[in-house]
Amino acid sequence: MPQEQSSAFAPDCLAKASAPARQRPVSAVSGPTAETLRLWQAFAPLPPERRRWALSVGVVEARRAGDFHLGAGEVAVIVSGCLATEAAGSDLSAEILGPGHVVATGTGRSVAGHWITDGEIYRVALVDWLDRAGEAGMLHLLDAEDRRRARLERRLVCVGRHLATARVADLLLSIHRAAPRQDILLSQERIGDMLGLRRSTVNGSCRALEGAGGARTGRGKIRILDASGLTKTACGCHAAS
Ligand SMILES: [Zn+2]
Repeated sequence: MPQEQSSAFAPDCLAKASAPARQRPVSAVSGPTAETLRLWQAFAPLPPERRRWALSVGVVEARRAGDFHLGAGEVAVIVSGCLATEAAGSDLSAEILGPGHVVATGTGRSVAGHWITDGEIYRVALVDWLDRAGEAGMLHLLDAEDRRRARLERRLVCVGRHLATARVADLLLSIHRAAPRQDILLSQERIGDMLGLRRSTVNGSCRALEGAGGARTGRGKIRILDASGLTKTACGCHAAS
């Protein structure tokens, strides 16, 4: 842990008392919470003063499993939980995002998705970021976009090349890694929508994974029983990110 972490929690944004109940300034808590440390790490490439600024100006919002997400004109960082973004105009999942993932959107482009688990997201307006985060902040966003593009390219290859059970295992594993201690609230139908697979195919894959002791599925809920077993089956495309 870097030495400067202890000085990262600027108290000045406590004044934002009008924020809604589920939305609060990052530093409206006392002491280095896991949430703040994760954000501090997500902004690691920035100089310490920019990181402190980012923490003091952004807000962290709580989300529930199933909540819709729409981001535009902002810099967002997943603090906890798992968010599945959608390929434009479809139910197909574009990315499985977990803690530390950064998503920047211009005003003309939006990113939509659904929360798979409960979670928290940090948000700051893109114009504020561009005003204050400097060259290092811009390079950080470009780097995050490069990583996103690499994830999307891996996903394209995955759809064309990998078998259904390997893809279902990979999806479940990536969600589990983003939110390790939570049941995954997903129906087999929804998994089919996310991966572009038929319900009957997903059902067969879930049975195979259950038979191997990797995961138990039922009633719209999935419990990971053996993550290392799932790793052996998963193709690794989502989980690699
Ligand atoms: Zn794959």
